[in-house]
Amino acid sequence: MSLPASLADELRASLGSEHVIAEPEQLRVYECDGLTGHRAVPELVVLPGSTEDVQTVLRALHRARVPFVARGAGTGLSGGATPVAGGVVVSLARMNRILEIDLDSQRVVVEPGVTNLDVTRAVAAEGFFYAPDPSSQQVCTIGGNVAENSGGAHCLKHGFTAHHVTALTFVLPDGEIVEVGGKALDPDGPDLLGVLVGSEGTLGIATRVTLRVVRAPETVRTLLAAFHTMDAAGAAVSGIVAAGVMPAAIEMMDRLTIEAAERAVAPGYPPGAGAVLLVELDGVLEQVEDDAAEVERICGECGAFEVRTATTDAARALLWKGRKSAFAAMGRIATDYYVQDGVVPRTRLPEVLREIEALSELHGLRVGNVFHAGDGNLHPLVLYDAEAGETEQARLLAEAILDACLEAGGSLTGEHGVGMDKVCSMPRMFSERDLQAFERLRRAFDPDGLCNPGKVIPTPRLCGEVPGPYRLHALERIGVAERL
Ligand SMILES: Cc1cc2nc3c(=O)[nH]c(=O)nc-3n(C[C@H](O)[C@H](O)[C@H](O)COP(=O)(O)OP(=O)(O)OC[C@H]3O[C@@H](n4cnc5c(N)ncnc54)[C@H](O)[C@@H]3O)c2cc1C
Repeated sequence: MSLPASLADELRASLGSEHVIAEPEQLRVYECDGLTGHRAVPELVVLPGSTEDVQTVLRALHRARVPFVARGAGTGLSGGATPVAGGVVVSLARMNRILEIDLDSQRVVVEPGVTNLDVTRAVAAEGFFYAPDPSSQQVCTIGGNVAENSGGAHCLKHGFTAHHVTALTFVLPDGEIVEVGGKALDPDGPDLLGVLVGSEGTLGIATRVTLRVVRAPETVRTLLAAFHTMDAAGAAVSGIVAAGVMPAAIEMMDRLTIEAAERAVAPGYPPGAGAVLLVELDGVLEQVEDDAAEVERICGECGAFEVRTATTDAARALLWKGRKSAFAAMGRIATDYYVQDGVVPRTRLPEVLREIEALSELHGLRVGNVFHAGDGNLHPLVLYDAEAGETEQARLLAEAILDACLEAGGSLTGEHGVGMDKVCSMPRMFSERDLQAFERLRRAFDPDGLCNPGKVIPTPRLCGEVPGPYRLHALERIGVAERL
């Protein structure tokens, strides 16, 4: 499908020709996000500079009935920002200004293209920080975080993106601008912010975001405990939570992930560890000291053979170095890897980890585990070699892991979103009636189905057959899917 010729001219006239990309080599830059297995080259990429620009673009696309996908930094891991073939990518990269810092109200107002870490940088000198901290925080954008309801290591105590967004300026798919929320935490009326945050770019485009920043704690202490087995580390996680300690973060890495991290960034984790646990405590000094002693005691009782404690920023950074680089480090031990993202009740962690090990053996592929243990949010990293033809086997293994999470009473995504990747897994977790309700909600915002189509909500023709005469699916019409 090609765009109406007049559309590109109209967008050039509105945005300036330097903010409309149409050259094939440049368009390829936008063909995928972090889920590189899904690719589609857009017809056009536009870079609006303001809410009004976004409105102009969406009005034009709506008139021409052209589908579009918003894009932040493209670090998403579920294919949420994968373009729709025949459609337009709306990149928010130019909208990267911090608009207001109101520390009396603990609010920061930003454009969606501001990176996550830049929010903390803007307020750190005044003793504040922005708590949700995806490992990609140096590059991922607030717009992407809002769309994915992103999490991070410190969300265990401080909450996810949804708990830190108090207002949004949002452009609906027909170009209407709406204001939702305010500076207060709990505005009147239905929770529309709750609908928009986490909607994975399917309801419109966020162009201004009001964020809650929190006071930096008086003290931070990070402990690293090394165990011989994942079971022992898992028992320590349960023990810490059961003891009433509320760490800011509890992260776990298994032997394979430790090996990759050592090869990549040499964090110097205790040799021979089958699992390491990183526990970060923050708050007032006396409480943190008491909690640190308690955590050390519990880890020791659960079989930790070494516990290190870091109190300075430099020492803490060293302990975190391996964890923060864990995904990228996989490149040292495998040519390709697939990041799975599932959730299990914390108490079922040891059993699900054993199941993952069994599935790994069954499918003949290695799996590294690095995850937010406190939230039960697993990130199994399925290692494979695409050139050796292992891609399909990796996909099957990743799906089997997801099934194991669901069977344990968990969920199919913790923070990376459904996107394109897990669209066909949705019926495993939600009933037909649930999915219909999601669809009705979506249609209320986007009756023409132009905003990030093909993501999140499955349709029978994409994920399986339905009886009756064949009907051309909307995604086939726009070139995303084809009938084989
Ligand atoms: C190494 C690595 C580590 C990661 N670690 C974490 C982690 O710890 N926790 C975590 O949660 N995620 C993590 N991620 C995933 C990813 O970084 C997050 O999902 C992030 O929020 C995506 O932001 P982005 O700017 O790259 O968005 P993109 O990938 O560009 O887009 C993501 C989705 O947001 C939509 N979108 C973007 N901007 C807007 C907007 N302004 N309005 C409406 N919709 C919009 C897009 O359409 C798409 O559906 C990681 C990724 C990588 C590569």
